Amino acid sequence: MTLANLEQVLAQTQGGHDLYDLMVELYPICRSITGNGVRETLNRIGNRIPIQVQEVASGTPVFDWLVPLEWNVRDAYLATVDGKRVIDFRDNNLHVVGYSVPFRGRISRAELESHLHSLPEHPDWIPYRTSYYKENWGFCLSHRQRLELHEAEYDVQIEASLEKGSLTYGELLIPGRSDQEVLISCHVCHPSLCNDNLSGIVVATKLAELLGGMPRTYSYRFLFIPGTIGSITWLARNQERVGRIRAGLVLTGIGDGGGVTYKQSRQGRSLIDRVMTHILKHRGKPHRTIEFYPYGYDERQYCSPGFDLPVGCLMRTPHGEYPEYHTSADNLELVKTESLLDSLDLVLKALYVIENDMIPVSTNPFCEPQLGKRGLYRAIAGQKEGASKEMALLWVLNMADGRHTLLDIAERAQIPFEAIHAAATLLEANGLLQARAGNSKEA
Ligand code: ZN
Repeated sequence: MTLANLEQVLAQTQGGHDLYDLMVELYPICRSITGNGVRETLNRIGNRIPIQVQEVASGTPVFDWLVPLEWNVRDAYLATVDGKRVIDFRDNNLHVVGYSVPFRGRISRAELESHLHSLPEHPDWIPYRTSYYKENWGFCLSHRQRLELHEAEYDVQIEASLEKGSLTYGELLIPGRSDQEVLISCHVCHPSLCNDNLSGIVVATKLAELLGGMPRTYSYRFLFIPGTIGSITWLARNQERVGRIRAGLVLTGIGDGGGVTYKQSRQGRSLIDRVMTHILKHRGKPHRTIEFYPYGYDERQYCSPGFDLPVGCLMRTPHGEYPEYHTSADNLELVKTESLLDSLDLVLKALYVIENDMIPVSTNPFCEPQLGKRGLYRAIAGQKEGASKEMALLWVLNMADGRHTLLDIAERAQIPFEAIHAAATLLEANGLLQARAGNSKEA
């Protein structure tokens, strides 16, 4: 199995059902930026790929931040004074505000009000809220549920712990022939939300599984980390190593039914930016490319000025542009098996370009070599079929001056990379080219 046989590779996903099944398995787990939900998630990912789980102690300084206290919640509910649970964490883990401090007591309906979060515009959905860096507690509920809270007093129980522990993340390095790395990063800190967090997790997991069974030039580093504090922590612990990262992608929100959105790295014309732009242009499916902006996911940390890594972000509909974002409606119905599969297909195509890019050097640079006598040219001039294949051959030969990569040529010729690569392979087999290792640099 190689990246060149994409159909064969994608057949390993059972039509994408393998991706979806992992999402179903991970969906019920209550994740946060720390705690047992992250460990449980990594443990299940670890059943498929050999990730290493890292624990970083609470209070560890990481650049301008501190690794936070560890949060775990066992039970949480709002009950009437006669003991009837009206909002119950066991029904949906979004019901408790993430990082809620432990609390137990009877409070008035009026006092409760400031601890409730709902969405009047979507009265059946439960919002997702957190309070990581300010000590607070609260409940998220549907607006319909909120309107039914008519009692004068309620009993609150939040059985949680917020104490010294650790931040947990998963890491996997799949070594290639080169120590130069491609980084794939996804966040694992959201509770039962599918597009936002689980879609990236399941595509990254399957990608790692597939790459592990293929020949590789690059080394591939996978990070399964809590958003923001996880990438900051990883970067703080690996500052010496990041110079090896030649390209990277943050995978998030890649399971909804919308077209692909690629958010460029801060550099804007780095290898990954060029590869994604090229593939999306020739793929013939709805897509858009947006420039870097300093908000969003972990690309904010990878692209902070001190690092400025060539890491872009792959999404479908961007966060905030779909109403289900950060609500209970970001569920197993929102994410489509075919979208997960399409996103995986796109990443594999990008890796194919990165793996096969090289600098062709013509062995016959003075005028065109005679292709006809080598059987590489139409026998009868003027024939239409085969013309595009020949154009690829002529472009590669013309640009094979040792200063252009195959991606440079594909961009300039406006011919898909696969066709340029196929032409170069054919010319090399006929002794007309030598391949020199090298990647497209920033243009
Ligand atoms: Zn989110």
